[in-house]
Amino acid sequence: MDSLYIHIPFCNRICAYCDFNKFLIDNQPVDTYVDMLIKELKYLKERSLKTIYVGGGTPTALNLNQLERLLSFINDNFNVSHEYTFEANPDELTTEKISLLKEYGVNRVSLGVQTFDNELLKILGRTHNFDDIYRSINHMEKIGLDNYSIDLMYNLPGETSQHIEDSLNNIKVLQPKHISWYSLIIEKHTIFYNKIKQGKLHIANSEVEGKRYERVMEGLKKIGYHQYEISNFSSDPKYESMHNKTYWKNNEYYGAGAGSHGYVNGERYFNVKPVPHYINRMKEDTNAIKEIHKLSNKEMYEEEMFLNLRLNKGLKINQFKDKYGVSLFDIYGDVIEKHINQNNLQINGEYLSLTEQGKMVGNDVFIDFLID
Ligand code: SF4
Repeated sequence: MDSLYIHIPFCNRICAYCDFNKFLIDNQPVDTYVDMLIKELKYLKERSLKTIYVGGGTPTALNLNQLERLLSFINDNFNVSHEYTFEANPDELTTEKISLLKEYGVNRVSLGVQTFDNELLKILGRTHNFDDIYRSINHMEKIGLDNYSIDLMYNLPGETSQHIEDSLNNIKVLQPKHISWYSLIIEKHTIFYNKIKQGKLHIANSEVEGKRYERVMEGLKKIGYHQYEISNFSSDPKYESMHNKTYWKNNEYYGAGAGSHGYVNGERYFNVKPVPHYINRMKEDTNAIKEIHKLSNKEMYEEEMFLNLRLNKGLKINQFKDKYGVSLFDIYGDVIEKHINQNNLQINGEYLSLTEQGKMVGNDVFIDFLID
């Protein structure tokens, strides 16, 4: 077991597009939550890990005291050999919080920028603005926590192609080590979903979305970023997110906190989502697992394909046989042949991967790997 994900389910404001397990922080029992999270972490078997990722919600919504309690517990109880990431919102990342993260060994920040445009940020319901982005990055660089990723979205309501160009120009100025740039997905039970249903909000069609994606890939390549996953780019291979590659390589990991999930011994588990339920469970128990799902062979094969094919490098063909004792081509020979013929998949040495064209129609390719 190399990786651990820790969930902080609190935010200072709820964004219009968000369907994560998150709650407005006002009047929440945050101190008790941190206590119970620490209790859950105490019962994890593994103490030496390659990566820890603290996400949310927004971990930087915690106050200094809460943050320090969590950080110092992790510091005293875990040995993180490679990558220790905290997600952060630009307006919440004060110099005090950055110093605290650095003091306790955090070596990577994933900054929720989303867009550099103040009007679009308002539409998204974000609490930060353009100046907050530059200020927080400036502080991180001064304090020496300069391995940061910028998280962006495209295909936003009100977005034009010029917004993409502006983001690319800002990236050129800032030169972050890593960029995640996802297309906005309209999820059910969000403000955006309801507004679109009522005809009050519009997003571009899939043709425009495809063009934006092409421009993102091409624009980042031109300014020196290499793409290693469908939506992820780094300035150098050493800055690829090792933690997220755990997910894409379909390796196992722990999850802790309300609504988090983990993957251990071939079983995916899910913790209870609401904060009060999580706290009550943890007061009486050593974990807060709501459901454990033992993966069937079919599910394991499917996940192996969907996840590994997200990576530019793709799936190591022999690894499939080593993991499952059966040849990749015995299970998926016809599908692979079909998509190689359609120029969506390619074999490069030991790896099967999406072609440039395949990246544009990734979901159509993935669907074919579902076994009836
Ligand atoms: S800050 Fe992040 S987790 Fe919180 S509501 Fe916004 S998108 Fe969701």
